[in-house]
Amino acid sequence: MNEPYDAIVVGARCAGSPVAMLLARAGHRVLVVDRTALPADTVSTHYMQQYGLARLASWGLLDDVLATGATPITRMTISYDDAVISGFADPIDGITATLAPRRTALDPVLLRAAEQAGAEVRLGVTLRDLIVEDGVVRGVRLQTADGELVEERARVVVGADGSRSRVAEAVGAQTYEVVEPACFIYYSYWDAIPDTGFHSRIGLGQQQVGLWPTNDDRTLVAVMRTRDRYADFRRDVEKNFHEVLDQVVPDLAEQVRAGEQAERFTGIRYPDNYYRVSAGPGWALVGDAGYHKDPFTGKGISDAFTHAELLAGKIAEGLAGRPMGDVLAEYTAERDAGTKGAYAFTTMISDLDLTPQLQGLFRAVSGNEAATRQFLSMVGGGISGEEFFAPANVGQIMAAV
Ligand SMILES: Cc1cc2nc3c(=O)[nH]c(=O)nc-3n(C[C@H](O)[C@H](O)[C@H](O)COP(=O)(O)OP(=O)(O)OC[C@H]3O[C@@H](n4cnc5c(N)ncnc54)[C@H](O)[C@@H]3O)c2cc1C
Repeated sequence: MNEPYDAIVVGARCAGSPVAMLLARAGHRVLVVDRTALPADTVSTHYMQQYGLARLASWGLLDDVLATGATPITRMTISYDDAVISGFADPIDGITATLAPRRTALDPVLLRAAEQAGAEVRLGVTLRDLIVEDGVVRGVRLQTADGELVEERARVVVGADGSRSRVAEAVGAQTYEVVEPACFIYYSYWDAIPDTGFHSRIGLGQQQVGLWPTNDDRTLVAVMRTRDRYADFRRDVEKNFHEVLDQVVPDLAEQVRAGEQAERFTGIRYPDNYYRVSAGPGWALVGDAGYHKDPFTGKGISDAFTHAELLAGKIAEGLAGRPMGDVLAEYTAERDAGTKGAYAFTTMISDLDLTPQLQGLFRAVSGNEAATRQFLSMVGGGISGEEFFAPANVGQIMAAV
């Protein structure tokens, strides 16, 4: 029997690698596994908020991500009908630009950092089941790429294995506050489009276009529509994609046509929005495994970092002697309290049909420089949704029109 690990982390991307890295840096014995032979791409439009980049900076990894050739973004344009909010947030924890690094660039930086910190990494290794004794998770049953079954034990098993989490399934973790998904997305990458910064525009007819620079001067262009249009859209993706661009962002549509599409389209109907019970005896969930929401507000990666740090800190306290059940319960309570407002906002706005009140607020923000900075600061994670949408704050913005 192998010596038990302090922690085994299943999934080695945005949530899993930071948990493994932070625990290993704190001197703990960590195994991190992923069934994918990373590095590999995944379905994501990978725009990162300032608060997520601040986590990378504090871990000493921001320069490594910049060195992959991700283009810094210093101008954001968010628009709906005649309301155009354009500018950039004040620095958040010293972060003055955002990035949308390709996942083939970002994820390897995270995994390398975990490995350099001393975590043992096994790729191409799939979690098949958990070892559970007297109701407590004690380890994992893994299958290697050549089919061999291996058992490993640990004080705690972390499921950082995405929205279809096998760890969640094995422990029967229930979802709560579930909201049906509203939209689907198609996106691809273009060369030779001038750097226009970050654009997100909702057009009439519940359709949205997103466009931002990524790595190597390549631009991501995305179209989002409500799910009732999915079957129709799929019949001719290329024609429908450009038709939406023409309708929603005619000026940018021309630039996209003049550019060169460098990759095939990726399309997906979004999974549910949910929280999952994210801790129990000997186990915890982090990242999309425990909390997932529509990518509209671009918080998945940044939240995965924030919650990875929160969870690693709590597990370290448990390994140092506090009851593991208590620290894991604190983790989920703090995660939920810290995301409540953002979750409500994301699920409210993600059907691309703004309430008249929100339309009025957008219009008022668009003509007001201070309110624009404040709004973009909320988007970037500098202030909370609760603070921005507080009646007194909204009243002040509306009164200035
Ligand atoms: C279309 C789309 C666009 C998005 N755009 C953005 C955006 O612009 N900005 C943003 O911040 N977020 C975005 N997101 C969300 C973001 O991609 C996720 O929040 C983020 O990837 C979550 O990271 P994670 O590490 O929790 O999970 P994942 O990235 O899903 O990683 C899970 C890992 O677990 C591994 N795994 C799964 N099962 C097993 C198993 N049984 N055994 C071993 N390994 C396993 C997988 O191979 C995978 O590598 C988007 C998502 C989608 C779908």
